[in-house]
Amino acid sequence: MVDRKLSRRALLTSAGVAASTTLACNYGTQFALLANPPETETMQPQWADARVRGYRPLGATGFRMSDISFGCAGLSDPAVARRAIDRGVNYFDTAPDYSHASSERALGEAIRGVPRDQIFIVSKFCTPDGHLSHDAPTKTVIEAVEDSLRRLSTDHIDAVLVHACNSTERLMAPSVHEAFDRLKDAGKVRFLGVSSHTPQLETVMRHAVHSGRFDMIMCAYNFESWPAQADIFALARERGIGVVAMKTLIGAYGSQLSDFTPTERQSFPQAAFHWVLSNPNVSGLVISISRFDQIDEYLYASGGTTSSSEHALLEKYTRLIHHEYCRPGCGSCLEHCPRDLPIDDALRYQMYARNYGRERQAMQQYARLPVQGDECTHCPAPCESACPFEIPIRRRLLDTDRQLRFA
Ligand code: SF4
Ligand code: SF4
Repeated sequence: MVDRKLSRRALLTSAGVAASTTLACNYGTQFALLANPPETETMQPQWADARVRGYRPLGATGFRMSDISFGCAGLSDPAVARRAIDRGVNYFDTAPDYSHASSERALGEAIRGVPRDQIFIVSKFCTPDGHLSHDAPTKTVIEAVEDSLRRLSTDHIDAVLVHACNSTERLMAPSVHEAFDRLKDAGKVRFLGVSSHTPQLETVMRHAVHSGRFDMIMCAYNFESWPAQADIFALARERGIGVVAMKTLIGAYGSQLSDFTPTERQSFPQAAFHWVLSNPNVSGLVISISRFDQIDEYLYASGGTTSSSEHALLEKYTRLIHHEYCRPGCGSCLEHCPRDLPIDDALRYQMYARNYGRERQAMQQYARLPVQGDECTHCPAPCESACPFEIPIRRRLLDTDRQLRFA
């Protein structure tokens, strides 16, 4: 395989995605991306040296997490995580399959010398090559966590999550629970959690909250998410289960929308974070950080809640991305694809590359899909009539395939 290093701009301008991506929208506005989006957001003077200003209890764990916390999916430079610690971030979410384990290694280097009880480290039950199957033997699960401990250079992981959980079968897999209990008895892990952004999100989370087994849940949650989630969060809080939000930027198109003013582009992440943190049942949110400037920009939102102008901005954003953003937890199109193409996963990987700047990771994840977008070439696209948001799935998947396929 030949690796292709693509910048976000290169991805946007490939396959005719840039300024030519213009779709009529039912609301009288259009989805169009800037032809030359900035590689980084223009630093605002008020963002400089921003620090965490809000800490909230993570369920009954006894830990108060930073309301804006650090997602390590794109972390390669330990100094970035170290600066976040210096600014008050105390919760770090990583996984063995983030950048083929280099995220765990970078985090391990960043936390060296930091008093261990001052930070909360979360990793996942998986390997650098991907998720463990639900029937993986207990020994394999234990070894996977011990490998994470070695990469993180720590004697314990605070919480280990069932990663991107898509079924109650995976959630309650006996070998995973037995492995967790043994690791906990050995002092190598402290809390059990689950993460999901799949179509089964609500079923999985409801089951987790009722099972009595889980200390925390981590869910895709944003301005566009479903009302049922708020009920699950309220119940979780009642039962002492921590609630961590992810995928909070609703596709993260904010810095590229040509219908946004420069001020709107700069204000969007903070508005999205404030909306999430306005829910008192949310313990905190995790956002992917890989650059120093993101620390200033994102932490500026800490401790805040949504203003009416931010609410209007979020409504404008959701109108603009209505026909472009594949909703986590939807999945309505999946059973209509005769090739069983994991449409939602492929579109999410395109989002990672195009909007989060994580091209390499997205290409690696795309390469692992059993069926890819080239299958769409001669297909009449029965999936599209099943999408409640009228996303042009076929075109998007063909774009994704051109952008993420290893040459
Ligand atoms: S266009 Fe692609 S995703 Fe849609 S049904 Fe055909 S093969 Fe499946
Ligand atoms: S493409 Fe449409 S129908 Fe399919 S998962 Fe995404 S939002 Fe749902």
